[in-house]
Amino acid sequence: MSVRHSKGYQPTDIKGHFRQDIEMALLITKRCINCDMCEPECPNQAIAMGAEIYEINPDLCTECIGHYDEPTCMKVCPIDNTIIHDPAHKESNEQLWDKFVLLHHSDKL
Ligand code: SF4
Ligand code: SF4
Repeated sequence: MSVRHSKGYQPTDIKGHFRQDIEMALLITKRCINCDMCEPECPNQAIAMGAEIYEINPDLCTECIGHYDEPTCMKVCPIDNTIIHDPAHKESNEQLWDKFVLLHHSDKL
């Protein structure tokens, strides 16, 4: 199911700032020390412990669109460059907003 935006619609974050058009789901690299900081902060429950380190489910990651100005997992991670943008999961801003709506407001569709 797709959420259609009216012509000329430009997505904004919760504070009304315009966001860039190309976004990506995020990826946790092997630098992760399993400190548990990011998992409870994700508004989409997209982060879970994997076989060795925490992993992000790209089907659930919206780059925090609809919740925060920037990815909150990146903000709380204590190790630099551990959570990065995943070039294998490029999405348009509109796709991320669609995901947000499906995850949090599917009852209103
Ligand atoms: S960017 Fe946001 S939605 Fe994506 S994994 Fe991190 S905290 Fe979760
Ligand atoms: S906050 Fe960073 S180091 Fe800690 S579990 Fe998450 S990705 Fe790993």
